[in-house]
Amino acid sequence: MKVLCTGGAGYVGSTCLRWLRANGHEAVAYDNLSLGHREAVGDATLIVGDISDTEALSEALRSVKPDAVMHFAASTSVGESVDDPEHYYRNNIAGTLNLLSAMRTAKVQRLIFSSTCATYGESPIVPMNEDAPQEACSPYARTKLAVEWMIRDFCGAYGLGFTLLRYFNAAGAPSDGEHGEDHDPETHLIPLVLQVAMGQREKLLVFGNDYPTPDGTCIRDYIHVDDLAQAHLLAIGVTEPGRGAVYNIGTGTGNSVLEVIAACESAVGSRIPYEIVDRRPGDAPALVADPNRIMSKLGWKPHFTEIQAIAQTAWQWHKRYPQGYRSKETKLAAR
Ligand code: UDP
Repeated sequence: MKVLCTGGAGYVGSTCLRWLRANGHEAVAYDNLSLGHREAVGDATLIVGDISDTEALSEALRSVKPDAVMHFAASTSVGESVDDPEHYYRNNIAGTLNLLSAMRTAKVQRLIFSSTCATYGESPIVPMNEDAPQEACSPYARTKLAVEWMIRDFCGAYGLGFTLLRYFNAAGAPSDGEHGEDHDPETHLIPLVLQVAMGQREKLLVFGNDYPTPDGTCIRDYIHVDDLAQAHLLAIGVTEPGRGAVYNIGTGTGNSVLEVIAACESAVGSRIPYEIVDRRPGDAPALVADPNRIMSKLGWKPHFTEIQAIAQTAWQWHKRYPQGYRSKETKLAAR
């Protein structure tokens, strides 16, 4: 298939782009490079454009003529969404509406959408299956939930075929050793812990230890980015016009913030200082997947089931490229 990947230069988007290409698909990245990296796209075609730019988007769809779109482009920080909800509603909701309408005009009828476990929010059922209540508790989560409904309505009225993939916490580095997580500013737990390990930060701030969890810190289900990519590859094979499906992508095991720090300490081989501070507004206490639907319906199975193994892959990337893609560019220039 020919696939246009919005956000294809980002962490998850570029990993999926490479997996698609390695498995015989043609994949083109559409990315505004505000957070993504040109280097992450490798020798695939990159169209530099914003999802808010109707003309650029329509032109990309006209020229690429994709069979499907994978929509990764989004703003994804819970804390930032609490501080600047307007940006999140504009980029995630208005941007996606723009994309859906351009796809309708171009008659592209298959969409794989990056949704999130954050839409379950404060849902009391943990682990959660796809039918658990969606009690989104941050602007970020609410934008993703609204887009899920928008996509369903486009399916009902215009025949758009969709697969909603609700990612739990994407983590780790792809097995090729040449790519990994690199956000600026970094807000995600594992890269921040590893930045402390590398001396780039003094300590990790742990956001709250008074949650109703065994050690009081938040619990998340960390899913390796290669396992996420595998799920996209399966999804592209079953997404058909006029039909829709929803799948959780997680391991089914949760780890607390303190357990993640311990896993990183064992990967690095040294202690990593941290300090408990106030809760971060918008954080859900515990998000753990029940991944049985994707396992039974699509035959998906995570390769990485232990947080230590995931942390190890992330550490390999950060150790080799301490400044992320900037380190890569410096190394290439020195050759
Ligand atoms: N977290 C933390 N300190 C940080 C960053 C994150 O304690 O500096 C916690 C955060 O409260 C959440 C978990 O780590 O419980 C994962 O956060 P992240 O931002 O990586 O992903 P999210 O779950 O928000 O999508």
